[in-house]
Amino acid sequence: MSNIVAIVGRPNVGKSTLFNRLVQRRDAIVDSVSGVTRDRHYGKSDWNGKQFSLIDTGGWAIGSDDVFEEEIRKQVEIAIDEADSIIFVVNVEEGITPMDTEVANLLRKVKKPIFLAVNKVDNAMRDADAVEFYNLGLGEYYTISSINGSGTGELLDALAEKL
Ligand code: GDP
Ligand code: MG
Repeated sequence: MSNIVAIVGRPNVGKSTLFNRLVQRRDAIVDSVSGVTRDRHYGKSDWNGKQFSLIDTGGWAIGSDDVFEEEIRKQVEIAIDEADSIIFVVNVEEGITPMDTEVANLLRKVKKPIFLAVNKVDNAMRDADAVEFYNLGLGEYYTISSINGSGTGELLDALAEKL
């Protein structure tokens, strides 16, 4: 596989909703990475003529509410290893949480394209609320709504450009 794009972030920010919106074809559901077997959802997609494989991290089997911080950290580290690009999803409704900061700290050291997606920006009124995510120190961000699709085109434009 080439052009692997991993979607990372803490539970309930909307990773799976984004994955489902972007994916056109699903691959194997269970994969074994570094000896750790876990549910990892793979899908295929393309944009502007660039094909890529998407990975939805975060363990559907675990249930999204009681994932341990350690588990999230592990998933992010695996994603950093195997992905060519990373979409880091955060939630504008909740703002920056300590776990977001931790993930950002891991990602800031990575020499791969990182796309910060501020999700749940369902309407223009929430655009202003997204500004605080500059404080994660990852630079520019993309405001998106995985539910209604707004902003996802701009995110994919930027992503495809780096593939
Ligand atoms: P995950 O745990 O990061 O995979 O998050 P999910 O994709 O399971 O979404 C968690 C919750 O957020 C679900 O109730 C989704 O319907 C909701 N959600 C996801 N994206 C959006 C969005 O763009 N806007 C709003 N309002 N809700 C969203
Ligand atoms: Mg999920």
